[in-house]
Amino acid sequence: MSDCCAHKSESKKIHLVIIGGGSAAFSAAIKGSELGAKVTIINDGLPIGGTCVNVGCVPSKTLIRAAEVQHRARHHQFKGIASDSKVTDFKALLQQKKELVESLRQAKYLDVVADLPDFRLIEGRARFAASDTVKVNNETIKANRILIATGATSYIPPVPGLEESGYLTNVSAFELTELPESMIVLGGRYIALECAQMFARLGTKVTMLQRSPRILPTESDDLTDELTRYLIDEGIDVVTSVALEQISKEDGKVVVKAKVNGQEKMFQAEHILVTTGRTPNTKNMELENIGVRLDDKGFIKVNDQLQTSVRNIYAAGDVVGEPMFVYTAAYEGALAAENAMNNASKERDYTALPWVIFTDPQVAGVGIDEQEAKKQGIDADVSKLPLSHVPRSIAARDTRGFIKLIRDKKTDRLIGARVLAPEGSELLMEVSLAIRHGITVKEIVSAFHPYLTLSEGIKLAAITFGKDVSKLSCCAT
Ligand SMILES: Cc1cc2nc3c(=O)[nH]c(=O)nc-3n(C[C@H](O)[C@H](O)[C@H](O)COP(=O)(O)OP(=O)(O)OC[C@H]3O[C@@H](n4cnc5c(N)ncnc54)[C@H](O)[C@@H]3O)c2cc1C
Repeated sequence: MSDCCAHKSESKKIHLVIIGGGSAAFSAAIKGSELGAKVTIINDGLPIGGTCVNVGCVPSKTLIRAAEVQHRARHHQFKGIASDSKVTDFKALLQQKKELVESLRQAKYLDVVADLPDFRLIEGRARFAASDTVKVNNETIKANRILIATGATSYIPPVPGLEESGYLTNVSAFELTELPESMIVLGGRYIALECAQMFARLGTKVTMLQRSPRILPTESDDLTDELTRYLIDEGIDVVTSVALEQISKEDGKVVVKAKVNGQEKMFQAEHILVTTGRTPNTKNMELENIGVRLDDKGFIKVNDQLQTSVRNIYAAGDVVGEPMFVYTAAYEGALAAENAMNNASKERDYTALPWVIFTDPQVAGVGIDEQEAKKQGIDADVSKLPLSHVPRSIAARDTRGFIKLIRDKKTDRLIGARVLAPEGSELLMEVSLAIRHGITVKEIVSAFHPYLTLSEGIKLAAITFGKDVSKLSCCAT
């Protein structure tokens, strides 16, 4: 190609500028590049890779697994095996976590974009100068399309004294140098639950303070009641219906004054961890000046094609609100980039979206539960199988939890599942695919499920729609 033509095709390239450097941004960069764009990522705040790899999924899941190893060594049901375990070097554990984070950040983010043609990574805080112009450091950058993928950070509730007393979030909690002797965890949803159990299993005395009358208040009572019981059995103090009044620091301890079911109570601990939700990173970007509309919590409003109220500006990931998972952020990033590049109108599709809470037992769900089915007027029935009927769980001597399937009676098709089980998340994909592709309960029952796998539990739960499971012989027949 002659100089003249190479220059011409260069100048025709769409410049896609991506603000944010997390999962949504990276998948958008890859898709944009595949579609021929010149791509610029601008990231600031968290290191490149954003929340998941640095301060979210990766550090939490590796430490959760470490805590599980420590817990199971001491708490198992097998006779004749005496084992003990304790954390002897918290710093070493945290160093190992740090190395994992760094290696995954390099391998899954930096190395992946290293070879993209016409790609630039800028470290700096981006803000809009106009709807097609971004300012970063001292540079002004023109773009044909812009994607906002700035993510979210911990929501800090406005409790008197909290700011002054000092608190941990998911950013600082995984960077502690000493294992706390005690910790108050504010919140009762997934990040709160995962962190509470992880620290408790490592040896911290944990108190959870939750505003709603139940943890995971959007899930059904049977699930949250049973999970609460397991957490309490492990020594976690789960306090619900808590109205925080005042937080202070006394003799090096954080002291929380609260009303619990209307009664005055005090709690104290070495640290307080705030896990009361997520707030979008949309401040100080001049979004209001260019007409990008936000909802009342500051999340960016987008249509199903992930386009904002300004035509050439798209948004993806946590900054547009629920669902806030890394796999949905990545999906949205790629979809937004494709729509932006091709002026296409592909829509987000969250049919049968599976989700997991990495407690032990894990909580996993897909589709709707029986409460939601009722609200939607679906004639549904429920099969709930305690794990005490699943051979895998019986053999493992750990029968905590249940598998619950929800089906539309008219069609015999599954419409949802809730699983509370050790490693229960591994069961979700069968149900997710069944929902997505309209597979009936009858078809699930007719499929082979290997004996002594947890997945056999799905078959057994499916059989339970029509049969008493205690009357079954071996191998789910
Ligand atoms: C403790 C914890 C555990 C989690 N565990 C899981 C899990 O197990 N599985 C799962 O699927 N999800 C999990 N998540 C959720 C998941 O991490 C997020 O949904 C996902 O990382 C969001 O990606 P994102 O690209 O939208 O934003 P982010 O990854 O947050 O990236 C946004 C980036 O933009 C930067 N930024 C913000 N403003 C600007 C600006 N003006 N200019 C330049 N840069 C800016 C931010 O600092 C950040 O680097 C967890 C989250 C937390 C907090």
